Amino acid sequence: LFVSFEGGDGAGKSTQSRLLGDWLSGLGLTVVLTREPGGTDLGRVLRREVLHGGHVDARTEALLYAADRAHHVASLVRPALAAGSVVVTDRYLDSSVAYQGTGRELGAQEVEDLSLWATGGLLPALTVLLDLDPADGLGRLRARPDQPDRLESAGDEFHRRTREAFLGRAAADPGRWLVLDAARPVDDIAADVRARVAALLGL
Ligand code: C5P
Repeated sequence: LFVSFEGGDGAGKSTQSRLLGDWLSGLGLTVVLTREPGGTDLGRVLRREVLHGGHVDARTEALLYAADRAHHVASLVRPALAAGSVVVTDRYLDSSVAYQGTGRELGAQEVEDLSLWATGGLLPALTVLLDLDPADGLGRLRARPDQPDRLESAGDEFHRRTREAFLGRAAADPGRWLVLDAARPVDDIAADVRARVAALLGL
């Protein structure tokens, strides 16, 4: 089973990924918790460059995310799925469609095609969208001590476009997506995620 978490910065994706992973491990399943960008050694180099390196143009940025994803899928995600593990990733290709395709205006279809090429067409069985007003998400992040990266300082309009892009993709494919209001309590969100995953696993 392949599950991705998507949503804006500060929506709680890493917390919910971890809670789902803990629950699945507790059931005796083998779980691989990972993230994009930066789920592999090469990915961590790419993540540092794209988020904290010098300015790169939008197409270069899209290709760096695609390279991170191609390597992540080939070296980690596909082997883990083939071994029978559940893979839970904090961001996957829908982030690229939303941020590079719609946010940076490269075109949602073009960026989706690039991502599908990069991954050999691998889509999650379930994508959980943690939907949150971008102002709330960024407010949560500002409460954290780490340095803001490039997008956390991007404009309101950019974050509004990416939120709408996620919601639009989810509405178009409800079989793959679960949309949850990320302003709700952490445990309530986690329970809804577990219910959907349990159904997928036939538990
Ligand atoms: O969620 P995480 O902290 O890993 O994301 C790092 C940054 O990269 C965030 O600001 C996120 O919005 C951005 N990002 C992006 N395009 C992607 C994936 C992440 O702009 N495809």
